Amino acid sequence: MSIQADAPGRRTLLTGAASLAAVCLVGCSSAEEIDEKIDGAHKAAPAPSTGGSPSTPKAAYERLMEGNERWVTNALRHPDRDPTRRQLLATNQQPYGAVLSCIDSRVPPELVFDTGLGDLFVMRSGGTAVGPVITGSIEYGPMISGTPLIIVLGHQRCGAVSAVYKALRADKPLPGNLQAITEALRPAYEQTERGNHADPTEAMAKAQVKLTANALRGNRDLAPLVTKGDLAVVSAYYSLDTGEVEILNGAPA
Ligand SMILES: [Zn+2]
Repeated sequence: MSIQADAPGRRTLLTGAASLAAVCLVGCSSAEEIDEKIDGAHKAAPAPSTGGSPSTPKAAYERLMEGNERWVTNALRHPDRDPTRRQLLATNQQPYGAVLSCIDSRVPPELVFDTGLGDLFVMRSGGTAVGPVITGSIEYGPMISGTPLIIVLGHQRCGAVSAVYKALRADKPLPGNLQAITEALRPAYEQTERGNHADPTEAMAKAQVKLTANALRGNRDLAPLVTKGDLAVVSAYYSLDTGEVEILNGAPA
């Protein structure tokens, strides 16, 4: 929901439910009045901050794991999600993490890691399938702005992985462009089929993020950053049941 003030040079605000309620429960009659009340509500309840942007892989990793712990234990801080933060970032950004997750509606990285505005570059694709555009987007932060951490985040009961697993087992293509996801996940499928797994789709989802993280860690442009200790590439697995992010490989020492 948005509130627009029409005074020149003023702002357009996207407000959270709490501040919106605080503003409009006391009555709104003009744009200026709305603006003043937003200012008042904001001053009364600023969003907490988790501090400056971590600059090392380990610090970035710890920041995200702390956020996930808050998500799991229902101790969310919703840090850095207010107009002050928006204004601070209006002309620059320095995200400390790049996360590739699935399109699944239950796995939004900003919630799962309790992060704020400007903290993460986020890429999402079905089953965390990658191709040149996604890979280039993941590389952007580490290569251009020094982002020290990449997390490739798979998840429990992934519908995309399950559909691809069944399609490949039956040797039956998925319709239309979905087949591109099948091809992108084929290496994970083949690795899974070489093993003996009680739940092959869960194994395949984990194989997909591990293979993807391994490939990113060793690719031509990112490998030098990893070698220098400026970048870590982590594979991880999200539990829909508990909200917990389990690290599979690549955690910075
Ligand atoms: Zn999924």
